[in-house]
Amino acid sequence: MAADQGGPLGGVGKTALGVAAVRAGESRRPDRLFDDPYAQAFLDAAPGVLPDEPVSERDLAVWGPMASLGAVFYAHGVLRTRFFDDYLLAATAAGCEQVVLLAAGLDTRAFRLAWPDEVRLFEVDLPDVLNFKQRVLADQAARPRCERVIVPADLRGTWSPTLVAAGFQETVLTAWLAEGLLIYLSADETAGMLTTVGELSAPGSHLAFEHGGMATDSLLARARTVPAMSEYTALWQGGLGPDAPGWLADHGWHVRIHDRAALDASYGRPDPGAASGGFLTAVRT
Ligand code: SAM
Repeated sequence: MAADQGGPLGGVGKTALGVAAVRAGESRRPDRLFDDPYAQAFLDAAPGVLPDEPVSERDLAVWGPMASLGAVFYAHGVLRTRFFDDYLLAATAAGCEQVVLLAAGLDTRAFRLAWPDEVRLFEVDLPDVLNFKQRVLADQAARPRCERVIVPADLRGTWSPTLVAAGFQETVLTAWLAEGLLIYLSADETAGMLTTVGELSAPGSHLAFEHGGMATDSLLARARTVPAMSEYTALWQGGLGPDAPGWLADHGWHVRIHDRAALDASYGRPDPGAASGGFLTAVRT
């Protein structure tokens, strides 16, 4: 099966394939921080959609002037995947029986993490992306390790009725994850989406996303100057930017920031680009 260039993985949906490429590269490493057994299948199902660029650190030496940039994006994708794996497993162990992946893309956590029995996991993304994902996973005979529900929706619009109609319960503790999403939303769109998340969150629910560094530092400024990146950088809108912790604190969340450098050290992966920032987790008060 091939995805056409302007089809299921065109536009912002194509960014999900870029993340799958990082995860496939990491899964081949003997010292991998996670194993995504389906990431390569997504790439194989969409030949020609991504440029034929190396994604593993081992290959980056041949990537010319973009090598350091590619290494930083690779390292960021790996670190965030592992960090959010750990976040979700900790949140469900602490009692969250619902998981919602906002902009799930080609995330296969439903299939690869060892969830507590009672977990129900919702994957929200644009319909074309989820259709492509479903076809590939069906071809792979992939079996989820929890109850998995897909929710086609545009997170810039009114999506909560669709999530509730899919079985989401507002009274149940939830672990929300918005991984690799906010940069594609404007500040108003992000605030609108997070307002809805807050309305749907029982006290004690958890929320996580990336914070700082990638969205603001010189790396992104550099990326904007690279012609091959223009297709992606044109999509970047910045989310809430540095105001995210304050916004959440003002809207009923207790926020914690996780520094990227400390995480790099704890996972034994030196950061090739000295990118700043890290991740944000929050608990609904
Ligand atoms: N979270 C996934 C991961 O880390 O593997 C996917 C990250 S990918 C970089 C960004 C995802 O955001 C894409 O799957 C895209 O379709 C989704 N997305 C972007 N804008 C969206 C919107 N308005 N509504 C729903 N999904 C959206």
